[in-house]
Amino acid sequence: MPKQPTDLPTEIVDNSGGVAHLVSHWTPVKTRGAQILMNDPTIAAIMSLDPVAARAALGLVIAARRAGVPLMVISGRRSPEVNRQVGGAPASWHLTGQAFDVQVLGYTRDEIPAEWWEQLGAYAEQHFGLSWGGRFSDPDVNHFDLRGVLA
Ligand SMILES: [Zn+2]
Repeated sequence: MPKQPTDLPTEIVDNSGGVAHLVSHWTPVKTRGAQILMNDPTIAAIMSLDPVAARAALGLVIAARRAGVPLMVISGRRSPEVNRQVGGAPASWHLTGQAFDVQVLGYTRDEIPAEWWEQLGAYAEQHFGLSWGGRFSDPDVNHFDLRGVLA
C-alpha cells in the first residue's frame, strides 16, 4: 500500500547530521549546508522570464537567501489563460515575462510586516532598477516588474 502523507517523516537527517524540517507540502533537503527545496518553483519561474527580468529576479533571490531569507519566485511569465485564472490585470507585465511575484517560504504575503516589504521593495529598486508593486495605487507588495527600466 502506498504511503499516505501522514506516514511521511516530519524531518530529514542528512549525511552531515543537519536536520531539515518539512514545511507543509514543501520538501526541504539540506545538502552541504545549502537548503534546496525540491518543490521550489523559483528556478522554473525565473527561467520563464525575459532575460532582463530573469537576471533581476535571480539577483534578488540570491541576495535574500544570502541574508537568510528563503525568498521564492512563485509566479513569472503567465499565459493569458493562467493570468485570467489568477485574476491578473488584463495588460499584466506577467504576460510578457517582465514581471514576477515573490513569497517567503513559510509565510503568506499578509503575515509579513509592511516594513519588511518596504525594505525589500527599496532594495529591489535600488539594486536592480525594478518597479515594486508596493508603490502602485492598488498596492501589490510581492510583485516586481520592469516598467521603470523599460518605460
Ligand atoms: Zn505580479
